[in-house]
Amino acid sequence: MEEQRFEMIWDCRYCGNKKMLARTHRHCTTCGAPQDPTWRYFPDENEAIAVLDATIEGADVICPACKSPNAKSAEFCRNCAAPLTEAASVKLLGEQSRADGQSFAEEDLKARRDAEKALRNAPTSRPSQGNWTWLLAVAVLIIGAIWWFSRTKETTASVTGHSWQREIKIERFSPIPASAWCDSTPLGAYNIRQYRDVRSTRQVADGQTCRNVRRDNGDGTYSQRRVCSTKYRSEPVYGLRCDFVINTWTYSRSAISNGSNLESPVVWANSALVKTGTCLGCERENGRTEKYSLGLVSNQQPFNCDVAESLWRASPIGAVFQIRVNESFGNALCGTLKSNSK
Ligand SMILES: [Zn+2]
Ligand SMILES: [Zn+2]
Repeated sequence: MEEQRFEMIWDCRYCGNKKMLARTHRHCTTCGAPQDPTWRYFPDENEAIAVLDATIEGADVICPACKSPNAKSAEFCRNCAAPLTEAASVKLLGEQSRADGQSFAEEDLKARRDAEKALRNAPTSRPSQGNWTWLLAVAVLIIGAIWWFSRTKETTASVTGHSWQREIKIERFSPIPASAWCDSTPLGAYNIRQYRDVRSTRQVADGQTCRNVRRDNGDGTYSQRRVCSTKYRSEPVYGLRCDFVINTWTYSRSAISNGSNLESPVVWANSALVKTGTCLGCERENGRTEKYSLGLVSNQQPFNCDVAESLWRASPIGAVFQIRVNESFGNALCGTLKSNSK
């Protein structure tokens, strides 16, 4: 990563003399005016003048009295002899970067100065309130819509019918095909078939990409160096995959019983397990569920609500309930069902 040092160049803002050396010529070689460090720029790569002195002192300081640049170590301005204790450093130019094989052209000083001037004259933009107002309006609209569509009104409903259902879920011990990485194949797997498969990827170094960078040192010189970084490509990492069969309990069927009136007895269906134990084809129960549903009608609209068994049994045909109904969609909210006994 060797670094080379070159002269920046500058133009005289008074007489128009161009491409003077920023480190060597601190005054205009034509009219004698002091150098203005804001008129420094990068030269064309092919016209660059090397600086052999390798020590970089640091960015120049600007004389507060006459605005001419002085070496960082200077105590008094060499143009007007004013003390430099309060002096500010020159503003560094932005770093330039080119890919390998591309060359640096001369920087367009006029274009840069025009851009800086335009930036200074641009009206300082305050963060606008427009966006916030707009967001607030949308939020209010959304909240309003949610409120509007969730309005409910209370109404009465009467029982028109009953239904119930009971379900026994039944599992069967069966051979099930499955697949896993071979190092995590479950115990009891059989008929195992191994094969190679992509398990992950890794990054592998694959040459370098390089670019050239030139950086303003602020003392009338710039340094140019080559910066390289390693390129990577991703490469698959293979692992051993296993397809296998394993005997497992899996859902196989349900034994369902149901009825549609209050009078018939509520019973569980016969689960009729084929064989119990842990043989292939053996069956076992895995959970029972039951559901009691009331047929209701409100304003000529029929609907069903699932309720607790005790309420279901205590609600004969014609029993009256209070229930809330959504005003926009007309659907009854079963969670609000309560008896009208008061
Ligand atoms: Zn001049
Ligand atoms: Zn001065």
